[in-house]
Amino acid sequence: MNTSALSEQYRCAYCGGEISGERVAAALTRGRKPTYCSGHHRAAQNNALSYLRRHGRENPHVRIDRRSMAFHRLIATKIETNPGIVARARDNIDRWSSQGSQEAYLDEWRRILSGDPREIAQFLRSSGQRATRLRQSSPFTGVLSREERAAIMRAYR
Ligand SMILES: [Zn+2]
Repeated sequence: MNTSALSEQYRCAYCGGEISGERVAAALTRGRKPTYCSGHHRAAQNNALSYLRRHGRENPHVRIDRRSMAFHRLIATKIETNPGIVARARDNIDRWSSQGSQEAYLDEWRRILSGDPREIAQFLRSSGQRATRLRQSSPFTGVLSREERAAIMRAYR
């Protein structure tokens, strides 16, 4: 079975990201439709749906997380073709530090950005709680064009 081709057919119902070939194969083997990129996103989607049922509107935090994930999926794709983007993010971190910001997330980002660009791209797409938290304080400002940002804002309103 070609797992990378499988992975392109299915998107996570929560974040819209790719579902790994292994997860797709495992779901299909059990006769299920592959729906989530991770157990974490299955739980997050269930929480989101129960909030929607109770409040009659989407949880604003969920919407913001999804949008942030969409921004960073696109940024991750750009990093893979242009690793120089990582240097821009490092410059942003250094500038914020030199302006007196001493937030703990700056050091967290600094460690992540010292890694391999492919690993950084993988982290930006990650559905884990740490990536979800750090995407909210992203050093990748100025990477996406106005049009790219507007398209994502429209899609994740
Ligand atoms: Zn997901």
